[in-house]
Amino acid sequence: MAETKRDYYEVLGVQKTASDDEIKAAFRQMAKKYHPDLHPDDKDAEAKFKEVNEAYEVLSDADKRAKYDQFGHAAFDPSAGGYSGGSPFSGFGGFSGFGGFGDIFGDIFGGGSRSSANNYGPMRGENLRQSITITFEEAAFGCEKEVQYRREENCSVCGGSGAAPGTKPQTCPTCGGRGSVTRVQNTILGSMQTTVPCSACGGTGKIIKDPCKNCSGSGRVRTVQKRKFRIPAGIDDGQTIRLSGGGDDGLRGGPKGDLHISVRVKPHKRFIRDGADIHQNIAIPVTTAILGGTINVPTLDKDVKLTIPEGTPAQKTFRMKGAGIQKLNSQDKGDMYINITVDIPKKLTDKQREIIKQFAEETGDSNVAGVEKTKPSRKGLFRK
Ligand SMILES: [Zn+2]
Ligand SMILES: [Zn+2]
Repeated sequence: MAETKRDYYEVLGVQKTASDDEIKAAFRQMAKKYHPDLHPDDKDAEAKFKEVNEAYEVLSDADKRAKYDQFGHAAFDPSAGGYSGGSPFSGFGGFSGFGGFGDIFGDIFGGGSRSSANNYGPMRGENLRQSITITFEEAAFGCEKEVQYRREENCSVCGGSGAAPGTKPQTCPTCGGRGSVTRVQNTILGSMQTTVPCSACGGTGKIIKDPCKNCSGSGRVRTVQKRKFRIPAGIDDGQTIRLSGGGDDGLRGGPKGDLHISVRVKPHKRFIRDGADIHQNIAIPVTTAILGGTINVPTLDKDVKLTIPEGTPAQKTFRMKGAGIQKLNSQDKGDMYINITVDIPKKLTDKQREIIKQFAEETGDSNVAGVEKTKPSRKGLFRK
């Protein structure tokens, strides 16, 4: 087994005297070259990839590298008995130490590595959410609104460091500022490497001896913020407005998060909205439906006259072009649809009943008691 293995330095293509950085750089290059994602179903590349990882696992660890330099592969071969902790590479083709491997992997491929270096770098502030309820008309015409909300800011007294003015946070001696500590455990499957947040500094990598009084050492304060903003004409119920930079302050110089405001639009007592169009029902007297006439139609900003032609049936829909709602981010407007209903009187005076009965006789509506079917027919009168 040991004889068939290639030399680890040869696998990574580096000299025996290579520095840690050279080994790391060589590994990145090789791992990229043979990564299974780039060579699906290529057994040869897969084997190379495992070999590269195995070599790096040993050469990146000062202790293992020293053993390897002294004993060669026998240092890690259980049959050779040269390694007290059992084979770190049995079982899984040389993969072990996923913690350290994952870190490097992440920065090669931009994957979701939870590198402890993240504890150091700038981090974007959290996005925050608010909601606001506006009227139908405010949605149609746009409006100016204000929200009041709580957001996290960097403490202005200590500049976000958490250390009292005139002092500085110190690098955590336990983790050396990494914010995490790596533990190697020998198990029957090989050596397992796990990275956990440093308990001495809580994962920040820094120790604050003299905390800032304003923020109690957190570097952050919660403030109540008021923010005015414009809601554009045409916004609809359930849509969201994003206010850039309205969220929490970033960490360690990172950018601010955003504020997302979800907009609720109250229903209108008369208008029904359908995108940019408005629908409404209007009841007209039966006489207007029969004889025609002019009615007032309410729109968003004023009443408009609408001509009802003679003999307009119930459920007839009229369209008023451009009397709807302005489309979002556009000058175009939707239309207004007017659905006609006809009011039939429920109670008649004696005189009204007499007149309507005469009308029935004139049209020959023999359904009505005491009216004989005559000509011209009812059909002829209603349809002109
Ligand atoms: Zn402070
Ligand atoms: Zn620490």
